[in-house]
Amino acid sequence: MLGLIGGTGLGEALFGEDFGKSPKEHNVGTPFGRPSGPIRVVSWSGVDVAILARHGDGHVFPPSMVPYRANVFALKKLGVTHLLTSGAVGSLREEYRPRDLVIVDQIIDKTYRRVPTFFDEGMAVHAEFAQPYCAVLRERLAAVAAESAALKATETKVHGKGTYVCMEGPAFSTVAEANMHRAWGGDLVGMTAMPEGRLAREAEMCCALIAFPTDYDCWRPHAVSPGAASKQALLAEIIENVKAATESAIALLRAAIEDFGKKPLGACECQSALSLGIWTRRDRISPTAIEKYGPLVSKYLGGAKP
Ligand SMILES: [Zn+2]
Repeated sequence: MLGLIGGTGLGEALFGEDFGKSPKEHNVGTPFGRPSGPIRVVSWSGVDVAILARHGDGHVFPPSMVPYRANVFALKKLGVTHLLTSGAVGSLREEYRPRDLVIVDQIIDKTYRRVPTFFDEGMAVHAEFAQPYCAVLRERLAAVAAESAALKATETKVHGKGTYVCMEGPAFSTVAEANMHRAWGGDLVGMTAMPEGRLAREAEMCCALIAFPTDYDCWRPHAVSPGAASKQALLAEIIENVKAATESAIALLRAAIEDFGKKPLGACECQSALSLGIWTRRDRISPTAIEKYGPLVSKYLGGAKP
């Protein structure tokens, strides 16, 4: 099953107005609390797609408070094996223009108020994360993007890679921070990629992130002159960019699902990410821990299956 985590209204944008009424709705409980909202499952182009709005219905969770662990665990419980995530970002480079799409390949994680792992008690688990996103999935997305008539029609440039700096927020960067992020090698800055991607790896899902720059972060002086009127103009421009970029991201997601339906995604090393990752000696792992982590560890330790 393919999981999608994205902005509010993603399901409607992908599948039309009736999305909220017809599809199967799952209210999934997890050892990490409730996910951001119900997960809706639709079958489309031969692919079962589970959709979750990251910030909840009505955008109620700020980036620091999104229940990332419950979200990814709930999707795992439903049987999601591949996860596509999307999110708006600021651009740290001239060449990553607002309205472009970026298939992110690297992360610099600056978050500090979120639990970055499922395994915070009962066992020590260390997942490989040198390549935070699935190379196979990223390649497929890039190939789909190159063929997409919808993206060609809007002349949307799709970058096959980019380094995303994930900051805690919720306020945006200072100029000094933006320049530091650039000096670090960041191309994009956002607030939601982490720990979502880490958790997907711990859940042994193939995961990719489609980021869409809506503006140049504050490092780049804006073209319009300072003052109240220009602030309004800037805001209006950002809103237009968000709209256009969201539409491009939707077009890419739609094309990707169709492509996955025609040529299913195969096995991948992401799906055995924990095979060497459980460092705790087996006789020291309690049945309670095995039960808690259930679908994350069942294939290695027994217990509940996803
Ligand atoms: Zn993979």
